[in-house]
Amino acid sequence: MIKILERARPDILALQPYQHAAWEPSLERMHANEMPWRAEGDSTGAGLNRYPEPQPAELVSHLAELYDVQPNNVLVGRGSDEGIDLLVRTFCRAGQDSVVICPPTFGMYKVSARIQGANVIEVPLLKEQGFALDSAALLAACSDAVKLVFVCTPNNPTGNSIDRNAIEHLCEALAGRAVVVVDEAYVEFSGISSLSTTLDRYENLVILRTLSKAYALAGSRCGAVLAHSEIIDVLARVITPYALPTQTIEAVLKFTDATHVKQANERIAQITAERTRLVEQLTRLPLIRKVWTSDSNFLLVDCIDADRVLRSAVGVGLIIRDPRSQLGLATCLRISVGSPEQNDRLIRGIAQATGAAA
Ligand code: PMP
Repeated sequence: MIKILERARPDILALQPYQHAAWEPSLERMHANEMPWRAEGDSTGAGLNRYPEPQPAELVSHLAELYDVQPNNVLVGRGSDEGIDLLVRTFCRAGQDSVVICPPTFGMYKVSARIQGANVIEVPLLKEQGFALDSAALLAACSDAVKLVFVCTPNNPTGNSIDRNAIEHLCEALAGRAVVVVDEAYVEFSGISSLSTTLDRYENLVILRTLSKAYALAGSRCGAVLAHSEIIDVLARVITPYALPTQTIEAVLKFTDATHVKQANERIAQITAERTRLVEQLTRLPLIRKVWTSDSNFLLVDCIDADRVLRSAVGVGLIIRDPRSQLGLATCLRISVGSPEQNDRLIRGIAQATGAAA
């Protein structure tokens, strides 16, 4: 067993997982108490009367290729949200273990930890240094109780990428002690390569990828955990037996084929061009104090009057995110980069609120 797995919950390591119905596609199924007929109008490939394949091999191999890792380094689940939840449940004992998060950051790390009864230690990002990781404070916070450290890059909601060397240093310093979970939900928008190529080097590195953002498949609920094969095997015991619905499996395979990947790349280029345009235009508006540099498909914007900006967006039929309750973001809003028409409309709406020219 790899050393970092000694840090997983002992009861999970000892768990006898549920024995799902055997996957034998060459045989006709009379072993899973399913109906032998499809519902009328069911046009899926596999038939919704049948349970889907647990960890579907074709999808796992396909995502392994997409993310440049081996199939045994991949676990597929219902979005990165499920990956976060599985990691917390697998590694943290309620009332005893802790996770470290770096606020302001994605909210589910804390929520998943709290649901599991794990303690949450906060090591804030350094706002004055463009929301950089506070590596020294982070390592100092990693007592024996800390099992997971969540690092989001590019970070939501600040948009900046976290220095790759700092993350690799963290993996080295915490080897055998804590898992470094790197959430790369927005990496496709950053032009920076994924850390997945370093999986061979760090047994305690876990990467989260999602189909929800760059591949435009948020409604299909699909994401992947990339990690050492032994970590994947343990997570696979914890995930529900038929986690991914048949429609999701078929949709993700269809919409991540070569044609769609090419289209996704073109759209990523379009979004990053729009991001640049939006930064330029927002910066000129009197209600906006600062627009943070972003490697993502959203912008963090510091406002002179955030309420007024929110109202002016609603006035032109658009909703933007209010993250003001988060640490250090008391006057900030988060804007997802939209279509050119939506971006124009937003700029016009905010400009009109102050009588400025758009
Ligand atoms: N990580 C980050 C940083 C996110 O912003 C989000 C969604 N907003 C997620 C994970 C969850 O994504 P998924 O749809 O894959 O569950």
